[in-house]
Formats: sequence, structure tokens, C-alpha cells
Amino acid sequence: METVLHWINNAPSASTGERTGDVFNPATGEVQRKVVYSTPAEVDAAVKAASDAAESWRTSSIAKRTRVLFAYRELVERHRDDLARMLTLEHGKVFSDAQGEVQRGLEVVEFACGLADLTKGTFSENVSTEVDSYAIRQPVGVVAGITPFNFPAMVPMWMYPIAIACGNTFVLKPSERDPSVTNFCAQLLKQAGLPDGVFNVVHGDKVAVDRLLEHPDVGAVSFVGSTPIARYIYETGTRHGKRVQALGGAKNHMVVLPDADMDLAADAAVGAAYGSAGERCMAISVLVTVGDAADKLLPKIRERIAALKVGNGLDPASQMGPVITQQHLEKVRGYVDQGVREGAELLVDGRTLKVPGHEKGFFIGPTLFDRVSPKMDIYQEEIFGPVLSTVRVATYDDAVKLIHAHRYANGVALFTNDGGAARKFQNEIQVGMVGVNVPIPVPMAYYSFGGWKQSLFGDLHIYGRDGVQFYTRNKVVISRWPDPRFRGVDLGFPQNR
Ligand code: NAD
Repeated sequence: METVLHWINNAPSASTGERTGDVFNPATGEVQRKVVYSTPAEVDAAVKAASDAAESWRTSSIAKRTRVLFAYRELVERHRDDLARMLTLEHGKVFSDAQGEVQRGLEVVEFACGLADLTKGTFSENVSTEVDSYAIRQPVGVVAGITPFNFPAMVPMWMYPIAIACGNTFVLKPSERDPSVTNFCAQLLKQAGLPDGVFNVVHGDKVAVDRLLEHPDVGAVSFVGSTPIARYIYETGTRHGKRVQALGGAKNHMVVLPDADMDLAADAAVGAAYGSAGERCMAISVLVTVGDAADKLLPKIRERIAALKVGNGLDPASQMGPVITQQHLEKVRGYVDQGVREGAELLVDGRTLKVPGHEKGFFIGPTLFDRVSPKMDIYQEEIFGPVLSTVRVATYDDAVKLIHAHRYANGVALFTNDGGAARKFQNEIQVGMVGVNVPIPVPMAYYSFGGWKQSLFGDLHIYGRDGVQFYTRNKVVISRWPDPRFRGVDLGFPQNR
């Protein structure tokens, strides 16, 4: 059986340790390959490769770094479907959704291609007589990324294109559940001309993560994953003197006012709750219906659920695939059991779903609850599966109060035809990303992505200008040249070298 290896100094690197993990095809339940689990010494080897490459990459010209990123952009574009197929085979999401993931990652690569403008400093002439001052942004050095299973191509692309563009070198510890796509991207980076050691990959679990967090040569850590681990990464990384941005879990609410276009809201709720089997940090998992909105909306949602096709993500007819592992499937089923026990009304039960020919796959169908109360576990916890909970409230103010009482604040959406209500909502809601008649408001690459409260630990959001700021340090220079003299003659046209 094939084993996924580390990638160090632009080459595959075997593990000397004994530990490996199974990589499943979630649609069939079969183990398709193994992945090596890093020892601390292997993390050290990857960090050393990144450290050794740091000086020459930091000092390589903006022109050179830009060309590598443009070449990488072309290669990702060319291999878009190969990447998407890998995602479907290891993550389970349907192929069209996987293509969307690659596209959103590619947009960050495109943003990073603008590094020449993004990393510009500022200059002030004559701060004193014949004294100038300027600020420049310099790379942090070796930076690490630790990423979740649910977007194995896109989430790492939120990090490394910008980090590398800014002149850093990178060590990525991707999710051990779906690791193959990362090694393929590493090969594409090499093909794009990225020098040895600038981008390295170590596979594994907590052992690898802990070594990265304490390694004295790692200057910054970007993390995306669940909230308990995000908090741990933030606390441990900062204790070791690193800058850390750690994005955590979510419970995204979609508020529907009684005046909303109910067909639009039903389409949006079904797409955002059940797309990727609910395994998106921006999935809608709570529907907050105001006044009589539930009575109009829920029948429309049930109609749409009945027409959904759940199956193998490689089947073009499938709209929703399996969840990631058997263990996760049991956890999601357990939440549905718990919701019933707690007294929520189960309108659509996904637990009974069977996918013919895929009896061992990790499938659960779309599930819909009504009359969920804020005290219930299914409301409080992130289920990370295709389970949508409806909470009925009397007024707009009750909806806002409900959202503000939740510990997560990643994304939120409002559906209405009232511009004044929408304006008020986007202004007052205490959540990092807001959609108005848009259910999954994932910011473009040139904005930045991040939640508030327990959905993000750290000061800066990820990618966009916040990403550039995170991966660079500010330096201010004050200079005086009392006797500047003209040195040497060059009649050539100025060029980038
Ligand atoms: P996870 O927290 O279990 O794992 C994330 C990473 O941390 C993986 O690389 C994993 O190997 C590592 N890890 C796991 N346990 C660890 C431990 N005890 N110590 C050190 N490292 C550890 O998350 P997941 O299940 O892979 O992904 C799903 C979660 O990620 C959900 O909570 C989801 O909301 C969240 N997520 C958030 C965002 C966001 O932008 N806020 C985006 C995607 C996913």
C-alpha cells in the first residue's frame, strides 16, 4: 500500500518512526493509503531545511519571487481537476465542490502574485533637516502552518503563498486525514521554481505540532482547526515567543426575517447547511426564524432536502458526499440522538440513509430539527455534519441577542428585503464575517478571513492584507547623508535582477 511521505528540501522524505495513520476513502470506507507520522527529529529536519533556505529566499528579488508565484498559479490552474479529484477521494466532498475549493485557494495565490505592491514600505523625506525616515516590512523567517481536514488544499493556500511571497520559508503540518493533496502542491511549487527548503511538509499529529510550537527557530504559527486546539496552539505558541494566529470552530446562524424571499432563503439554507456534508467552518448550522418565518420557510426546506442526492463524490449526480471518518459519523449521529432526547422536533432524520453500493461509506443524510432551544447541546456545540437546527424567536432583537450569547462568532447571515434592517444588522452584529442575503460570506482573497470571540485567537485575520502583516515585521530606519556623492556611471536601462 502506498505511503504518503514528508516533503523536505524539495524531495520526499521517509520517516524513521514507527507510527503511521490510515487514509480512508470516506465514500467506500476503505483504507487507500498510509501516512507517516513525524517524530520530533523529523520536524527538526524540516525546520533546519527551512532555516538554511531562509537567508537566500529572503534576499531573493521581488521579481524572482513573483515569477515563482505566477508559475505556481499556472500549474494549479492546469492541474485544477487533478487536485479536485484527490480532494474527493480523501475528503469525500463532491467533485464540483472540490473544484470550488481549488478555485478559492487559487485566488489567494493570485493575490500573492501582487507581492511587489503588497510589501511596499513608506518613506518620509526631511523628518529633520536632511534627515529621512522610512519603514520597511521584512519577513519573519521560518513560519509554520497547521491545517484541518475540511479544506486540505484551500486552507494551506490561505497561508503559504502569502508567507512565501513575503520572503519567509514554510513548514506545513497538514491534516493527517487527507494528506495527499499537500504533497502534490509541494511538487507543483518545485516545478514552479521554488528553491529547495522554502516549502516543507511534515505529516502527523500532536507530536509534530508540539515540536513546531516549541522549536526556537519557528517565528510564527498559523493554525486553522477546532476551538479547543486553536486555544492550545495560541497559548503554547505565544508562550514560546512566537506570533500566532489560530482560527477555531463555528456555529453560524442564518436569520430569516418574515419579509425575506422565502424561496431564496430556502435555497441558501439547504446549500449552506448541507454542502460538503456540513463540514465547513462557514456552514450554516442554526436557522433563526423571526415571527412566522418558520411556518413559510421550513416546508420549502423539506421539499429541497427530499430532492437532494447523497452519494459518492465522484458520481456527477451526487450533491452531498460522506463525512470524513467512521468516528466522526458516530459523533454526528450521537448529536442527532441527543437532540431527540433533549426534546427538539426532528423533521428530517438523516440517520436512516443508505447509499446503495456504499454500505461501508461514512454517510449520513441531511437532518433538520425544529424547535431547538438555546440550552440544548445541538445548539451549543459545533456538530460539523449535515445537521440544521431551527430556533424560533419572536423579534429581530431576540435574534441578535441569541447570536451575541453564543461563544462562537465566525460567520452569520441575514435574509431580508428590508435595507434598513440589513444596515442595522451588519453594523451591530458581533461576528467576524457577515452575509446579507448571502449564506456563506467567505471574504475574497483581497479582504481577510476570520471570526471573533472563540472563533479566532490572535489579533490578525488570515490572508489578504492581514496575512501580509502577519508574515512580515515592521522596521523603521532614520538616515542622514550629509555628503552624498555621485558614484559610478551606468547608462543602461534600469532592470530587475
Ligand atoms: P482539529 O482541530 O482536530 O485539527 C486541526 C489540526 O490540528 C490538524 O492538523 C490536527 O492534526 C492538529 N491537531 C489535532 N489535535 C491536536 C492536538 N491535541 N494537539 C496538537 N495538534 C492537534 O480540526 P479538524 O477536525 O481537522 O477540522 C475541523 C475543525 O476546523 C472544525 O472545528 C472547523 O470549524 C474548524 N475550521 C475552522 C476554520 C476557520 O477558518 N475558522 C476553517 C476550517 C475549519
